[in-house]
Amino acid sequence: MKFFPIFADLQHKKVLVVGAGKVATRKIEMLQKAGADIHVVAAKACATVQGWAQQQQLTLHLKNFSADDVTQCWLVVAATDDSAVNQQVQAAAVAQCIWCNSVDDPQHSEFIMPAVVDRGDIQVAISSGGNAPVLARRLRAQIDNLLPQAIADVAQLMGRWRDKVKQSLPTFDSRRNFWERLLDSEITQQLAGGQQQQAEQLAQQLLDDCSANRETLKLGHVSLVGAGPGDAELLTLKAQLRLQQADVIFYDALVDKSILERARRDADFIYVGKTKGFHSVPQEEIQARLVASALAGNRVVRLKGGDPFVFGRGGEELQALDEAGISFDVVPGITAAAAAAAYTGVALTHRDYAQSTVFVTGHGQEGGDLDWASLAKSQQTLAIYMGLHQSADIQRQLIQHGRAPNTPVAIIENASRPQQRSVGGELKDLAQLIQRHEVKSPAIILVGEVCEQLGDYHWFGAKPLY
Ligand code: SAH
Repeated sequence: MKFFPIFADLQHKKVLVVGAGKVATRKIEMLQKAGADIHVVAAKACATVQGWAQQQQLTLHLKNFSADDVTQCWLVVAATDDSAVNQQVQAAAVAQCIWCNSVDDPQHSEFIMPAVVDRGDIQVAISSGGNAPVLARRLRAQIDNLLPQAIADVAQLMGRWRDKVKQSLPTFDSRRNFWERLLDSEITQQLAGGQQQQAEQLAQQLLDDCSANRETLKLGHVSLVGAGPGDAELLTLKAQLRLQQADVIFYDALVDKSILERARRDADFIYVGKTKGFHSVPQEEIQARLVASALAGNRVVRLKGGDPFVFGRGGEELQALDEAGISFDVVPGITAAAAAAAYTGVALTHRDYAQSTVFVTGHGQEGGDLDWASLAKSQQTLAIYMGLHQSADIQRQLIQHGRAPNTPVAIIENASRPQQRSVGGELKDLAQLIQRHEVKSPAIILVGEVCEQLGDYHWFGAKPLY
């Protein structure tokens, strides 16, 4: 280990930065966050540093560096663009046993600055020993994605409760048990949702239970999570986080394997989708199982293709959870129509062609009687979900109610997945196109003038068929 990791308290301590250009600015910003008393020595300074000096956020000495500038400093940063000067700075610092960092020059540095994931009191610092800063920054971004923002609030709450917990729970083991149980609870989600008061109440209840040596009735939590249209990289950061936290995951047929691979390895995966030739698990049963799993104290994810509230029956599940008094949250996902449009270059509301987009289900049972007269209006885009089987009916009704037979249509199968296919044509041929090209589920049918663009801005998967 060449560099020993420590976290240093620099509050109000004198730190010298030599140089006042772009590189120095980045270092100064970090030091400002740490509350250091920053002195900058430079013959000339960039506008940013001058501004900070005017606002008295640092002391600027417009002069050449001299060895005694380092005196009484806790840290020195050599950040000029002249390596000879940087080496002079380092030599002066080392002579007085002061830690010196020469920017981008680990050979001439007694300390280096890590890439940092910053969540208030929680700091994750990553070092590559100065050898691979780009790699360190990439790791930083990956860790950044994984850590909920609310971790900072959790740490703060734990800090506030420390003394109280110490008073209530005399032994180290009992305190550790309390903290573990607190972290296992839904406190992070509550703080992320701004429910400060509930979080404090939860902490109090847990502390009471621990003091009385009672088991806390562990109430679980259900997250309705949109998995997006298939491409795992279209998951939101929050969806990924929920998958990482889950004890149990109930998922549908439309959820890709590559998405499940991003979930916590030892979670229970429960399939509740439709299998060919078999009926899917009835909706009431899914709801009952979600409730039961949460009541058993699990952190449950209900993972659905696309967005949970777009033809996903998420509304009914939410109602069931609410009635059972289970805490829940909803993570939106990229709905199939948005993905189908993006991945074929068809702008759903291109201002030259359409003023609105209607999400509609072609599945008779789901949609009941559709308002064909309003759907047949021009200058609007229809995004029809589950429409393959009813395509002949859709085509006939739209034309009967006045939509032009030559209105462009696009059918997109497996949008955003490597096997994506798209078919273009006119409304009067919709059913025939689907048959001829053997379009299979899942597919979205787009109807409207915007479909004229299909093929013009092709960038993903196979070229459109006609
Ligand atoms: N909640 C989902 C929709 C569920 S209904 C969402 O927001 O996307 C199921 C229908 O969605 C399918 O029949 C199909 O019409 C559409 N669909 C889902 N994923 C799709 C995909 N990758 N490509 C095309 N259509 C898709």
